[in-house]
Amino acid sequence: MIPAALRYVRAGSVEEALAALVEPDAKALAGGQSLVSVMKLRLARPALVVDISRLELAGIETADGELRVGALTTWADLAGSAELRRPALAAISECAAGIGDLQVRNRGTIGGSLAHADPASDMPAVLLALGASVALKSAAAERMVETREFFLGPFTTALAPGELLTGVVVPLPAAGSGSAYASVEHPASGFALAGAAALVVTPVALARPADLRMEGATDLFVVLFFGLVSGTLGQMTIGWAQRYVDVSLSSLLLLGVPIVAAVSAWLMLDEALRPLQIAGGAVTLAGIGAMMWRPARAPAPDAGWERVGSGGD
Ligand SMILES: Cc1cc2nc3c(=O)[nH]c(=O)nc-3n(C[C@H](O)[C@H](O)[C@H](O)COP(=O)(O)OP(=O)(O)OC[C@H]3O[C@@H](n4cnc5c(N)ncnc54)[C@H](O)[C@@H]3O)c2cc1C
Repeated sequence: MIPAALRYVRAGSVEEALAALVEPDAKALAGGQSLVSVMKLRLARPALVVDISRLELAGIETADGELRVGALTTWADLAGSAELRRPALAAISECAAGIGDLQVRNRGTIGGSLAHADPASDMPAVLLALGASVALKSAAAERMVETREFFLGPFTTALAPGELLTGVVVPLPAAGSGSAYASVEHPASGFALAGAAALVVTPVALARPADLRMEGATDLFVVLFFGLVSGTLGQMTIGWAQRYVDVSLSSLLLLGVPIVAAVSAWLMLDEALRPLQIAGGAVTLAGIGAMMWRPARAPAPDAGWERVGSGGD
């Protein structure tokens, strides 16, 4: 299908874009990877398309304890960024590297994905786990909104009409933290059937390796806590999921994916912590095993039911 008739303007500056977006039924066009499809299906029929793709809103920088990512930064930029290789932020680059195909990663932008708020998209989970905020700008004002308040539902966000998402701000996690993203992808579309992101920050991560011995009691507590909490949550999740969906699917998607993300993030922690990571993993598995283990029940003794004869004799 082809889109309905529309007018098109290319904005030369953020101010020009905001002035154009004041018109009712105007929509911003960034990488076009989602908007063009929904326009072709006529699920969106903007009267005016404001092309923002050439605005200077792309870039990745770290300053003052924050990571700042411009709205027009593409998936390819995020996936290739040296800044995002550090374990605490690796979930962002890992996630971006797995999105779509080469063309989607070269054209699709982080701002477009967040504004579109497709429930199947990958990056929202990562930004929620990292406690990120988005910068929103209108012709009249500018505001920061935390991602947990930005997403209101499928394809619905806190973006007001006429507002542009100009960037994403992530508070830098404590030194030594680890983050990861895991997903199960649909084999045909590549979109995630389930995705989970995890950020692991432990008191251990705050300590320099030389201080580890002094942190022994805390380390043990963290390892036990990690194991028990994930075991309990796993059991609760399975119990809840069993009421609604097939257990094997629910186990894989609802429990498996978050656990893979959490364990991957845990493994991203400093190498000096390897023994603790292995201990944490073992306690986690033991916790899950213990919660799921059901002793085989002996057959119930004959409760003395009287056999009711068939009257054959
Ligand atoms: C084949 C294919 C595979 C894909 N696979 C995946 C995948 O595996 N995982 C995944 O997460 N995504 C996937 N996507 C979606 C892709 O990531 C898109 O890049 C993203 O959803 C939208 O980004 P965009 O820059 O192209 O936005 P556009 O398509 O230009 O815009 C999308 C929407 O956001 C609005 N918008 C855009 N930028 C702004 C802004 N700065 N401020 C306010 N509103 C704005 C537009 O008005 C529009 O409503 C896939 C897309 C395709 C076509």
